[in-house]
Amino acid sequence: MSALVIDAFEFGRSNGHRDGTMPVARMARLSKDCADDSGELSWSVDGSTISHGHAALTVAVAGSVQLVCQRCLNPYVFAFEASTMLVLGKDDDQADEIEDMLDDESIDVIVGSRTCDIGDLIEDEALLALPQVPKHDVCPDTKLLDALNADKPSPFAGLKDIKTDTPNQQ
Ligand SMILES: [Zn+2]
Repeated sequence: MSALVIDAFEFGRSNGHRDGTMPVARMARLSKDCADDSGELSWSVDGSTISHGHAALTVAVAGSVQLVCQRCLNPYVFAFEASTMLVLGKDDDQADEIEDMLDDESIDVIVGSRTCDIGDLIEDEALLALPQVPKHDVCPDTKLLDALNADKPSPFAGLKDIKTDTPNQQ
């Protein structure tokens, strides 16, 4: 069993804590949404118990990934920090009951597992933190940059002039 697999109910009731770092490359679903799979995320999972004795996990992730701007199609670094409390239900029915009882949009209720892979929870949290349409706050104006570069005389053009001019001056 992987070190990242926990009994989610037990982890919550015993106020468990785990933290670490995970390379983006190890998260297939996340890397698919990124320009490349460089970088790593730091994460932590904390167990707790909420009202009525329901176990909960608070999953936090922070780090940065490379996304592709949908406006100019250039890659850029997206830094984020996110955390969500996941309350555990034993099955779908209980999860629905807890959801109604909490009536809190910021808390998610999931069906807990005794063989819960923390890695999946971390990746889910990171995916939720990504913008739906990734884009720069302000795109670098590449057209303007390209135009500037095209207007600039080549340094070799200058050398050629010197070479051809020199014999005439003598
Ligand atoms: Zn852009």
